[in-house]
Order: sequence, then structure tokens, then C-alpha cells
Amino acid sequence: MRIIAVGAHPDDIEIFMLGLMMRFKNEGNEIHFLVATDGSLGGLNSKENLKKIRAKETSSALKSFGKLHLLGLPDGSLGEKESHKKILKTTINNLKPDLVVTHYKKDYHSDHRALSVIVTNIIGHYIPIIFCDTLMGINFTPNYYIEITEFFELKRNAIMKHKSQNPDRFVELAKLMNSYRAAQCNAPKGVFAEGYFFESSFPFADIRNILPSSLDLRPFHIKNVNGFL
Ligand SMILES: [Zn+2]
Repeated sequence: MRIIAVGAHPDDIEIFMLGLMMRFKNEGNEIHFLVATDGSLGGLNSKENLKKIRAKETSSALKSFGKLHLLGLPDGSLGEKESHKKILKTTINNLKPDLVVTHYKKDYHSDHRALSVIVTNIIGHYIPIIFCDTLMGINFTPNYYIEITEFFELKRNAIMKHKSQNPDRFVELAKLMNSYRAAQCNAPKGVFAEGYFFESSFPFADIRNILPSSLDLRPFHIKNVNGFL
């Protein structure tokens, strides 16, 4: 399969979607990363400098896991122009993906929300979409959990490439979120999981057959819970 992760800013894919994308890559799928905006509002540096710095950071974070596409749309006003939708639609359609991973419509940042709605509206009726966690899981209840323990170190290293963003704090947030999602599946300490939400809609009433198995968490559950089952 060909899978595309669509993130609003440089570093979003790394923080919210990279574990699942690594699972997909490990299973032999073709991986693409599409970053919608240039990230030019993410810091005190000049917009022009930030554009360049952030493009380099995300390239060095993601290049070994898939092909990167930087759309360079304006940070902070994603979706305000009709042309933004056109660029997203053309890019996604040209890649002909079997699945798209992107932000959830109730996430904290206006660009994340705009991207979620645009992607759903432009391709949701002919390409299946799965939505990633929101920042700290607010307004988000996953219905698909994927264990990412073996990839967490790589995910951490990818987030740390974003030096312009004080990445330590995002590593800590990812640790908290991914431990919490694993704990929701009754996994022991040290296990990490990403949570996703799949909205059933025609003609994709059920897409579990194209997702990596979420049952990896169960052996931990069974082995470690004495007298609980
Ligand atoms: Zn973002």
C-alpha cells in the first residue's frame, strides 16, 4: 500500500503520527509525508529564516522513513484561500494513496483543524482516512490503538531534530500521551502506544483490514494481569 501522513506544520507528523507510519513502513508499505504549511510562525526568528530552518529540520527528521513533500502554504492561515484546497487535493490525488493519516477536527490549533476538515472534504469519499491524536488527547477518544514501543526511540530522535522548537518539551508530551494510550489498553509501564480514530463512512464502513494489528497490546495484558481477567 501507499500511505500518506498529512501534517499541518513541520514536526506534527513526528509528534503525532510517526509510530504508526513506522509500523506501516516495517510492513513493506510505501510511505509519504506531506507537510502543509511552512512553519514560519513557529518562533522568534524571521519568517524567511524559519521557513528554511524548519524545512531542513523536518527533512532530516523524516527522510529515512519516507518521501517528504513540503507544500509551503502559509503558517497560521491554512484553508483561508481556495488555492490551499486545490494544492492539497492535487498533491494527494497524484500520489494515489490507499490510506491518509491526518489531524483530528477538534485539535487545539486552527491549522490542524482546518487541515482535518479540508482533507476529509476533498478526498474522504474515495480514500480512507484515519485521524491522529490531539495534543494531550483533549477532545479525542481513540477507537484504534497501535503499539509503538519498538519505534519510540526513533520517534524521539525525529522530534529532537526540531531544534528551533525546543523539542524536549514535545518529547515529554509524546512520552506522556503514548504511555497514557498504552495504559488505556492495560499495558505495563514502558509500553508506548499511539491512539487513532477512524470514522465509519461510506464506502469505508470498516478499514481495520488495512491497518497494522492492534492486538500486540494484548499479550502484555494477558501476561501481566494476575487474577484480573
Ligand atoms: Zn502543528
